Amino acid sequence: MNLTAATRLAGVVGNPISHSLSPILHNAWLEAAGLDGAYLAFGLAPGRFRAFVDGLRGGTLAGINVTLPFKTEALAAADRVSARAHAAGAANVLVFGPDGSVSADNTDGEGLLYAFARQAPGFRPDSGPLVLYGAGGAARGAVAAFLEAGCPEVRLLNRTRARAEDLAARFGDRVRALNTTDPDALSGAAALVNASSAGLGPDAPPPPDFSGAPTTAVAMDMTYRPLRTPFLKAAAARGLRTVDGLDMLIGQAIPAFTAFFGQPPPAAADVRGRVLRLLGEAP
Ligand code: NDP
Repeated sequence: MNLTAATRLAGVVGNPISHSLSPILHNAWLEAAGLDGAYLAFGLAPGRFRAFVDGLRGGTLAGINVTLPFKTEALAAADRVSARAHAAGAANVLVFGPDGSVSADNTDGEGLLYAFARQAPGFRPDSGPLVLYGAGGAARGAVAAFLEAGCPEVRLLNRTRARAEDLAARFGDRVRALNTTDPDALSGAAALVNASSAGLGPDAPPPPDFSGAPTTAVAMDMTYRPLRTPFLKAAAARGLRTVDGLDMLIGQAIPAFTAFFGQPPPAAADVRGRVLRLLGEAP
């Protein structure tokens, strides 16, 4: 990498940040495109986000991706908010204008639909209900994206039902909270998406029982470490098509890269293969 005085800079901000794959993706694209740019990772102490963003006003960086725990603060720090960031209640992209302004966007929903398009060709979000496990920030973005894409019904299954009810209330009639044990929860579902951060340790809940889902349903897990999660393995055992979380990560990064560096990433760059090798997963 040859950094110059004209190098265009962007980065990702979060806490913790050391495991972020975003620098791998963006720098691989920059290299493949031959652009004079660099993408860095910033680990920020809690409470420092607003000051960090205000310090960047005016274009020191072209923009930043924002990850946990700052996505809600990112929305509040912006002067302009896209409709989809507003609907998701969070921003994962901030772009710094030369006039000192900050514009917020949320590309997670676009990433989610990109992952479906890549790994479940022909899937249509408007073809039936979405069953969504979780009711946190990622779930909210998923609800917004699926509703925008014409999904007729979203069923929220969350450990804390009250949180699912709060989320449903934000979106109106097409979204409702169900008990995680509701025997009809998966009936007629077109998509089953895991947006829970339950993890994979000894205390993690077992994967759902997919026997009530139609075999035409597509299952997607936002977790991508490991790539084949217990959720996806259980879905595959039921005969469902599966979509992993890595393509969502790539899909949310594509519009962010375009916003930061002024052109889409080169399609030929095999960033998925590069990340899979890094994670020790066979491409
Ligand atoms: P939040 O902290 O906002 O929400 C976490 C959700 O997980 C809540 O619904 C919570 O339920 C549930 N949960 C946590 N622990 C458990 C448990 N032990 N048993 C059952 N449910 C549990 O996180 P986010 O919504 O921001 O992120 C969710 C996941 O999605 C993360 O793993 C994140 O890494 C991933 N993600 C992946 C992306 C990608 O590009 N692939 C993009 C964005 C997120 P409760 O309400 O009961 O606490």
